[in-house]
Amino acid sequence: MSTSPSLTFHDGHSIPQLGYGVYKVDNEVAADLTGQAIDAGYRHIDTAKLYGNEEGVGRAVRAADVPREDLFVTTKLWNDEHAYDDAIAACEASLERLGLDYMDLYLIHWAVPSQGQYVEAWEALVELQKRGLTRSIGVSNFPLAELEEIIAATGVTPVIHQIELHPYFQQRELREAHAQHSILTQSWGPLGQGKSDLLENPVITGIAAAHGATPAQVVLAWHLAHDIVAIPKSATPSRIVENLESVQLQLSPDDIAAIDELDRPDGRAGFDPAQKRD
Ligand code: NAD
Repeated sequence: MSTSPSLTFHDGHSIPQLGYGVYKVDNEVAADLTGQAIDAGYRHIDTAKLYGNEEGVGRAVRAADVPREDLFVTTKLWNDEHAYDDAIAACEASLERLGLDYMDLYLIHWAVPSQGQYVEAWEALVELQKRGLTRSIGVSNFPLAELEEIIAATGVTPVIHQIELHPYFQQRELREAHAQHSILTQSWGPLGQGKSDLLENPVITGIAAAHGATPAQVVLAWHLAHDIVAIPKSATPSRIVENLESVQLQLSPDDIAAIDELDRPDGRAGFDPAQKRD
């Protein structure tokens, strides 16, 4: 059974570098699939209020043979609950659905700059961490200006920033800013969400053939080699195992450099955080 290495946050807690994402996994099957992921060796699960499956994820976490302290659970604050009191209540409601006493990481899901409440939401997350409802706090989908604004406004730096990131969209500017602030980078859509030909790209398939690995494993190993946390999603049991096994794949410096070359200015597959409005 493969186990992921961990990376350490600036607050002293650590996160397994390869996790299991459950976007678009129905609540009815979330407990079964999350249980399979834990059995396969995953110790980090990424959900969100938006996904509607916190209840199923929590059931699997509570039923697992693995002690709670050895599992890492992330969930996220949705966009209509950025007001301070709403954010506090939203975290409590997520814990209720998860059936857990604490979460390991709570993220603001999107900055939604036009709504203008992300500083207030961040202040609420700072309070939630103080109260012990979440071990660590971070953000997702923040443009750089809004990321720097919440740090300047509160003096508290997110431990991690979860952003769309894959070989076709490598987010170099944000990654450099994260390094300066000691923020870890986390990739959502690490495999490109199946929206492009990434896994058929000849650079990727060529490296995969040379290593006797799959294209998905090569892409995930590239994230790991860059010290990025990745949370691939699959609802297929064999792929759940396959994706975790990427932790065993060592790419050469030439492999990594060749994948670095795949970055594209128009490679974004999802929403632009600067434009997202609801
Ligand atoms: P992903 O890049 O993980 O792609 C998932 C898709 O890739 C699967 O549906 C499947 O079609 C394919 N796939 C998975 N494993 C494969 C394999 N081994 N071989 C071939 N194809 C394979 O995209 P995602 O699910 O959107 O992102 C991963 C996780 O990131 C989500 O589940 C969620 O937890 C998180 N996420 C967060 C945000 C955010 O706004 N913060 C947005 C999207 C996703």
